Amino acid sequence: MKFQSTRGLEKDVSSAEAIIRGIAKDGGLYVPESFPNLFNLIKYDKDLSYEELAFKIIKEYFTDINEEDLKDAINDAYKNRFEVKVNKDFLELYHGPTCAFKDAALLFLPQIMKRAKKALGLKEEIVILTATSGDTGKAALEGFSNVDGFKVVVYYPKNGVSTIQERQMVTQEGNNVKVFGITGNFDNAQTGVKEIFGDESFKEEVRRGGYLLSSANSINIGRLVPQIVYYFYGYFKLVGQGKIKLGEEINVAVPTGNFGNILASYYAKRMGLPVHKFICASNENKVLTEFFQTGIYDKRRELILTESPSMDILVSSNLERLLFEGSGRDGEEIKRLMDSLMAKGVYKVSNKISEFLKDFYGNFANQEEVSKAISDIYEKEGYLIDTHTAVAKVVNEKYVKETGDNRQVLIGSTASPYKFPRSICSSLNINIEELNDFEVLNKLFEETKVEIPTNLVGLAKKSILHKEVWDKNEMKQALLSYLK
Ligand SMILES: *Cc1c(COP(=O)(O)O)cnc(C)c1O
Repeated sequence: MKFQSTRGLEKDVSSAEAIIRGIAKDGGLYVPESFPNLFNLIKYDKDLSYEELAFKIIKEYFTDINEEDLKDAINDAYKNRFEVKVNKDFLELYHGPTCAFKDAALLFLPQIMKRAKKALGLKEEIVILTATSGDTGKAALEGFSNVDGFKVVVYYPKNGVSTIQERQMVTQEGNNVKVFGITGNFDNAQTGVKEIFGDESFKEEVRRGGYLLSSANSINIGRLVPQIVYYFYGYFKLVGQGKIKLGEEINVAVPTGNFGNILASYYAKRMGLPVHKFICASNENKVLTEFFQTGIYDKRRELILTESPSMDILVSSNLERLLFEGSGRDGEEIKRLMDSLMAKGVYKVSNKISEFLKDFYGNFANQEEVSKAISDIYEKEGYLIDTHTAVAKVVNEKYVKETGDNRQVLIGSTASPYKFPRSICSSLNINIEELNDFEVLNKLFEETKVEIPTNLVGLAKKSILHKEVWDKNEMKQALLSYLK
């Protein structure tokens, strides 16, 4: 399997190179040159463990990593650290060290990078740069902490993540980790990281110091491919639970930010998984909702800080990969669209792409709807969901109401409710006045008796190891200060 850039100028790139580089030289994203149709081959193995299934899927793509190394990478990533469950209609993706779904990708990425580095015979130390809206940062820190040959540097918007998310990051231990607060929002942080990657002379300066820069954001193909796995796994679980028959189509509803998770579900379909509709759920930052309704992507607006901060995003990077498929893999067209987004903040897709996008449904949920969804399902079923998951639940309900399509759905449940306990308590009318975030955590437990994930217990007592805050225009300087 080879990889190519969505902007047309790079082809025949090996997976190891694509994983190490993160982003293509022409600014595009790496995509596989084809999608092996695997579903028909593995559908009678529906009782595979998560690790076994991951191996079957991932080995189709990362063919230049030898199979033993790949098996080790998968086991080192997931064994006894990560689990996926299907509970009601929810695909619970948050049973990992950081209690959010990004663990699925970010436990695996360091392990595959380590093997890719070996396959390429690279000697330099690799510095992973990550901009985070909360969850990616912690998951990258957790994944790369103490992995030989790597450093990990995380930038987060100082006032754009929850207290718990911030505490998870600034208490990160490891001899190769660094966390910077940035005075700005997530898009500023992400733009800053993109600028660093685009600055050849800066990268040369860093290279002279013995470092190669790479990314752990969801644009890295090494993060996207492992996410295909949980859709297959979830599908087979539904079959096992008797909710669908093998081969029957389902819908997926995904709380969407950077478009990685929902894109993975589309890639799963390209591999044969029977998915009918991709329901793309946004919060009040509803750029994608408008895009799926009009074909116009327009980021020219203020970012709204919501109770689902990991979805507070105006530029959903991975959408570029979907557009690439929709254009019939026309790199020049994608480059034109992305240039227009960069220069004018807006683009409109062709009729051909619009036609292609009809498998996607976009809508959004506001705070009131999210809050009501959280309390409704708790009152009725004693089941707690977090704010991101609630966005998807609301949008799925809108879809069903509009279309009458009542196929079985898998709703991506992307974070433990205990990552956002304040929002959950206020949705449930639990009085938390004057309590700090950690007391709120305990209060939520006392009221609901839903267990607190072990990885969040004890966070309050950990020492804070990272305190630096830098201006959003000084992200390069921040990096150099750490590498020196
Ligand atoms: C990152 C994240 C999302 C958005 O996922 P994308 O792959 O960026 O679309 C949704 N929910 C939570 C909890 C997240 O951490």
